[in-house]
Amino acid sequence: MSILSLKNINYCYPLENEPVIQDVSFALEKGKVYGVIGENESGKTTLCNIMRGFIPNLYKGTLRGEVTFKDKSISEYNIGELAAHIGYSFQNPFTQISGVKDTVYEEIAYGMENLGIPRDKMTQRVDELIVLFQLEKLKDQNPFELSGGQKQLVALASVVALDPEIIILDEPTSQLDPKSTEDIFQIVEYLKKAGKTIFLVEHKVDLLAEYCDEIFLLYDGRLVMQGKTAEVLSDESILQYRVQLPQVTLFYLKLVGKKGKVPLTVAETFKALKGSGE
Ligand code: ADP
Repeated sequence: MSILSLKNINYCYPLENEPVIQDVSFALEKGKVYGVIGENESGKTTLCNIMRGFIPNLYKGTLRGEVTFKDKSISEYNIGELAAHIGYSFQNPFTQISGVKDTVYEEIAYGMENLGIPRDKMTQRVDELIVLFQLEKLKDQNPFELSGGQKQLVALASVVALDPEIIILDEPTSQLDPKSTEDIFQIVEYLKKAGKTIFLVEHKVDLLAEYCDEIFLLYDGRLVMQGKTAEVLSDESILQYRVQLPQVTLFYLKLVGKKGKVPLTVAETFKALKGSGE
């Protein structure tokens, strides 16, 4: 069942003539993970902002087409209501930190406070998230004193805290080291198992290959490829859209086969790749 759908979306920023999103249509199904790729300035962040109702509600411009959340146009929801359903973590974690809370713990609770969630429920949820995101050692620290990567984790935990049905992640691992990046993908897997729908903008194709159900490829504001992860990433026409496929991903896809069962994780494939001399 589709939870969010876009139909013939076109969008032009204020005072611009050229549309940056052109005729984009797709439907997201509940409980699936969608990986979104595309070179810089292909329209990924703009698309995220359209999906969460930020455009054209708070950011004007000319939007055509229809975004539907649960069979109702998103223009019929108020922006606060929509934010509780469709969580969004910014590309830049510095933008996301509220700036009004003194500790990581309070920062994660902040959005829930605004939604009026009862205190005992809120405390329980923050405690769970501190463990899930491995923030135990940082929980009493000031969010502004954290590194970029740590801020990114806190920003994501704050979004997950609101328990939205759809979670849009705009390059959530851009500031993270490989270990924390893997941790984020594990959290994505956990959220998927909890029935969440994830829309994940990410450059790390090797990890998308392993964790996503489907891949969307944007090129110059158009959705040029879309489908099952292995099918899209194995399709040679992807190369014309300047997507870099790491060697490990190509090898992984060879092992997976177009529709076959995934035999190995990327880390295991990497080991096999080293052993094979490819
Ligand atoms: P991506 O996330 O793939 O890098 P963006 O959605 O940020 O792409 O940008 C898509 C296009 O929209 C780019 O050409 C960018 O310059 C343009 N753009 C982004 N924000 C604005 C804005 N506020 N005003 C005008 N043009 C913008």
